[in-house]
Amino acid sequence: MSKIYFDNAATTQIDQSVVDLMNSVMINNYGNPNSTHSFGRSSRTLIEKARKSIAKEFNVSSSEIFFTSCGTESDNMILISAFRDLGVKRIITSKIEHKAVLNVVKFLELTESVKVEYVKVNENGLIDYDDLDQILNINSVKTIVSLMHVNNEIGSVLDLSKTADICKKYNAFFHSDTVQSIGKYRFDLSKLNIDFIVGSAHKFHGPKGIGFVYINKKLKLNPLIIGGNQERGLRAGTESVHNICGMELAFIDSYKRFEKNKKYILDLKTYFIKKISSSIPLLKFNGSCENNNDSTFSILNICLPISKDKSVLLEFNLDLKGIACSRGSACQSGSNTGSHVLNSILSKSDLNKPSLRFSFSKYNNKAEIDKAVEILSDFVNSN
Ligand code: PLP
Repeated sequence: MSKIYFDNAATTQIDQSVVDLMNSVMINNYGNPNSTHSFGRSSRTLIEKARKSIAKEFNVSSSEIFFTSCGTESDNMILISAFRDLGVKRIITSKIEHKAVLNVVKFLELTESVKVEYVKVNENGLIDYDDLDQILNINSVKTIVSLMHVNNEIGSVLDLSKTADICKKYNAFFHSDTVQSIGKYRFDLSKLNIDFIVGSAHKFHGPKGIGFVYINKKLKLNPLIIGGNQERGLRAGTESVHNICGMELAFIDSYKRFEKNKKYILDLKTYFIKKISSSIPLLKFNGSCENNNDSTFSILNICLPISKDKSVLLEFNLDLKGIACSRGSACQSGSNTGSHVLNSILSKSDLNKPSLRFSFSKYNNKAEIDKAVEILSDFVNSN
């Protein structure tokens, strides 16, 4: 049985070219990049080349890109340092952020009495910009706004430029968790008033365990990981040279094939929507799934017209038949709290039905969608 992978928002299949490059770097460039001899210098050259490639795509200086271990570390670094080093006393965020942001915000609220305010989000997971403006207007305390670009569960998209302009109007810092959008959206950071964005290579066909953060050069943060002077003193620890090189290649490739991949993946999502809507007419989509700027092209979250009691059986059935997707249900096994994102946007009756997230990549095809839809409609129609 061939397996089908529709969980690309969780992680992506690494490109073979990336694996080959990383192997070669591990074998041939093992020098510590902080050593001054030729072995070290050749590793250093690779790291700085990678930094330049990422900075060039965003139209910023390479001194504004710092390597980290993942998206979670990057989000932690920004929010904790904004409080500690930039005088931030208030964080404005939303209830549908990733836990890499939400739990840090809660930590700062509990341990440091940072004031936290949640901006309103509509039933499609879209931010209420007027509410953001009003919250910022009420209080002039030093604030960071932390709002994700693409929501990892429902695929709703934030208008970065509009949000950045509102933040600028009130002199607030703006951090956007862009983990789901790197490699899929283009950013000219020299034109946007964004102070911080983050990336994680395993979301764009790169290796796990490597990420980056962009920090606007006007801002000076101190390290959270203390030790040597790596990453210009911001993050101690010997750099993971092969991971950095793997991330660079995956990053460059995803932008090189950006338009082609986007068109291909959007076509898959549109095909999935059309097929499943005709096979299961009572099905609903969580969040917007229109082909417009409010919804990303790679994530689709569906709510099935059956009882939640059937969720476990449904997941078992999909897994047994080789389909990997993600639970987006309100009540996940092992937890009685369910998805905090769906809990924030769905009605009570829809929370009583199972939801699933399908997320697509360049490695998927329409035959896989045919199979997934057939399994889902057989299950729904027999229940
Ligand atoms: N932010 C978002 C929106 C994500 O989707 C994820 C991963 O699922 C993260 C942060 C965390 O990234 P990482 O897995 O690299 O820690």
